[in-house]
Amino acid sequence: MFIGAIADDLTGATDLCLMLARGGMRVVQAIGVPDASFDFGAADAVVVALKSRTLPKADAVAQSLAAARRLLDAGARQLFFKYCSTFDSTDEGNIGPVSEALLEATGAALTIACPAFPANGRTVYRGHLFVGDLLLSDSPMKDHPLTPMRDANLVRVLQRQTALPVGLVGHETVEKGAGAIRAALDKAEADGLRMLVVDAVTDDQLRAIGTAAAGLKLVTGGSGVAIGLPANFGFSQGAGSHRPFPAPAGRAAIIAGSCSAATRRQIAAARAAGIPALKIDPQDIAEGRMTAEAAARWIIESDHATPLIFSSDDPAEVARAQAALGRMRAGELVEHLLAGVAVRLRDAGFRRFVVAGGETSGAVVNALGPAALAIGPEIDPGVPWTVSLDGAPLALALKSGNFGADDFFLKAWELLQ
Ligand code: ADP
Repeated sequence: MFIGAIADDLTGATDLCLMLARGGMRVVQAIGVPDASFDFGAADAVVVALKSRTLPKADAVAQSLAAARRLLDAGARQLFFKYCSTFDSTDEGNIGPVSEALLEATGAALTIACPAFPANGRTVYRGHLFVGDLLLSDSPMKDHPLTPMRDANLVRVLQRQTALPVGLVGHETVEKGAGAIRAALDKAEADGLRMLVVDAVTDDQLRAIGTAAAGLKLVTGGSGVAIGLPANFGFSQGAGSHRPFPAPAGRAAIIAGSCSAATRRQIAAARAAGIPALKIDPQDIAEGRMTAEAAARWIIESDHATPLIFSSDDPAEVARAQAALGRMRAGELVEHLLAGVAVRLRDAGFRRFVVAGGETSGAVVNALGPAALAIGPEIDPGVPWTVSLDGAPLALALKSGNFGADDFFLKAWELLQ
């Protein structure tokens, strides 16, 4: 194993798998910390998907360290800590504390923090993260239900999460290429810096950063910066696949718990195209008016090929539910219900699921239970179909909330044979 990666949510893990696979590596995605019997096989890279983004920081650190030990014991030459390209976190963490713990575990002097993913509109310039044309703090991420991002200056954001000194490798250095970036890392190390936010606005810059990171024991960032890592181990670009692939036969459903602007547009497009949709309100769950049983029955009784269940709502409605129930409780009620629906659908013979939302996908997959997923064709940038490698055969498309074109829920199915 060359790269051992730890992802703080499931959709992010899948996205990273795709990036490494495109770089020519054989990739396996493990769901949760692999147990002693887990067979890493001939994988060049293993991506461990945790659901640690919004855990209390001690738990996130403990799980990340457990994953790191398994990966290092299995021979991983470089660790990669993957988080969201919108740097989803709070002042308590978990990006800073987990990075700190992994620095310690690898004995590394320094790591980089690079969430840039230009293909999806995430760029970092002078330490500031942009989402398309907007600063992170002006983007819809300012209203995320769990990790509202109200500061676009990542040096400041990360420094609030760690006592280790944080610095910046700026655009003027990154532009000059891998040699200049490497020299900046060496200088930062001599200056005692431990975590460096790195500017990047193009894929070529990400490749240069990847080349410069060849000697680092720990790299942290979004999946974008992984574009340059396989080449460090002698792999060359494989072709991404958009060909239909054989998937387990059975009924299909769409489950959406993301409140992102992109997911809400995808829901609107699906409903406009005639897909029947059941909306879930967190307060109805809390007060017993909606149950997983009832929601699952509604889907099972639907005569449509791809019925939709969603809790996604606009920021004002999310805020109202959170004021009544508490932010975490509102999220947990929804996640728990949607996971319960998924299990009931599987038991009723459903085999194909599109799930929207990182936390939501984590809850659904943990409930469905596969320990490992193989990566299939890419529906939209960063979102492939996957198939379970153990347990009931399932085809799963796990979509990070912000990803995918407006017709995602309509076109995803065309890739399944
Ligand atoms: P994304 O990928 O867009 O971040 P996630 O699934 O990771 O989506 O996060 C969305 C969170 O919001 C989940 O915890 C989900 O349960 C919660 N949530 C979903 N719908 C609502 C709602 N109507 N009110 C409050 N919280 C909600």
